[in-house]
Amino acid sequence: MVNRFIKQAAPGLASLKPYVPGKPLSELERELGITGSVKLASNENPLGPSERVRAAIEAQLADLARYPDGGAFELRSALARRHGVDMSCVTLGNGSNDVLDMVARAFLWAGRESLFSQYAFAVYPISSMAVGATLRTAPAVDYGHDLNAMRGMLGEQTGVVWIANPNNPTGSCLGRDALRAFIEDVPPSVIIVVDEAYFEYVRDDDYPDTSLWLSDFPNLVVTRTFSKAYGLAALRVGYGLSHPDVADLLNRVRQPFNVDSLAQAAAIAALGDRDYLRRSVELNDRGMRQLVEGVTRLGLAYIPSSGNFLTVDLGREAGPVDQALLRLGVVTRPIANYGLPNHLRVSIGLAAENARFLAALEQVL
Ligand SMILES: *Cc1c(COP(=O)(O)O)cnc(C)c1O
Repeated sequence: MVNRFIKQAAPGLASLKPYVPGKPLSELERELGITGSVKLASNENPLGPSERVRAAIEAQLADLARYPDGGAFELRSALARRHGVDMSCVTLGNGSNDVLDMVARAFLWAGRESLFSQYAFAVYPISSMAVGATLRTAPAVDYGHDLNAMRGMLGEQTGVVWIANPNNPTGSCLGRDALRAFIEDVPPSVIIVVDEAYFEYVRDDDYPDTSLWLSDFPNLVVTRTFSKAYGLAALRVGYGLSHPDVADLLNRVRQPFNVDSLAQAAAIAALGDRDYLRRSVELNDRGMRQLVEGVTRLGLAYIPSSGNFLTVDLGREAGPVDQALLRLGVVTRPIANYGLPNHLRVSIGLAAENARFLAALEQVL
């Protein structure tokens, strides 16, 4: 159906397809009249929030009538200490998506180019199109970013280059030397975003912590989130680390109270809860082994993943398989919208949830 206001809308919106989130369990259960289903569709932390986070939120409730600290002094100080940078380098977002969106609004506009890889995270094209920028997609190799192809597409008009490391929905990961060499080749006038939403999960020794490179590359923006390993997806809090001048521009387009006071308090508590983080990562390691063994036993190929999810090649259209899994109460993510119609992305859950997924998949296949 044609939107009757499309001609009045900003030009980029005509071909912009909104982000498709994983289906909430409550909605699925209402539709199918079932209960007790499991959601492995949005790369959430299956442990749920830590006790320390719950306590921090409780303590904040008394101030609910007050606006949050718009500058988020305490959280930004804690993050600055954690990363060994000045507070002026930290930009908070309502989820790291918000920071990505600020980058697009600050550094892209009509005529400017936004460069990313095939299969890259869907928010990059969405935020870029919303501001009218031209999309440039470099073909992937083995489902991962082809940095040489991306190099070849850098041009006069390039405003922002986006790299998710690891990438979602593929789980592929770039090593230290290759990524560093690429960033060195990106002109200093081009903003390069390295989206490290899954940073805490990565086990590979060759995985770079690009936040340590900030002083070498003033055009580098590193984003992190509390939504994944820290288990705070509902609260929407993430951040960017960058040169203070870049952060200054991001903050010019930032909504003044974009991170609410419960999220700020929870994030501070989560940062200090090393034990929860360790348990989350260990659970993920075990779950990854369980899923890899399980899908291998079913004779399926998968894309090796450094995140908290596994993308499986079903060898046939994933849409109908997803529908059948839904009827068995298992929510996963088909990713045809990424141009991968035969792949299904499954988030790593608790051991019993992973087992339930594998049993359901076996039944469906
Ligand atoms: C989940 C995810 C994010 C984080 O989103 P939030 O807005 O912080 O919840 C960012 N980038 C990628 C690649 C992701 O998969």
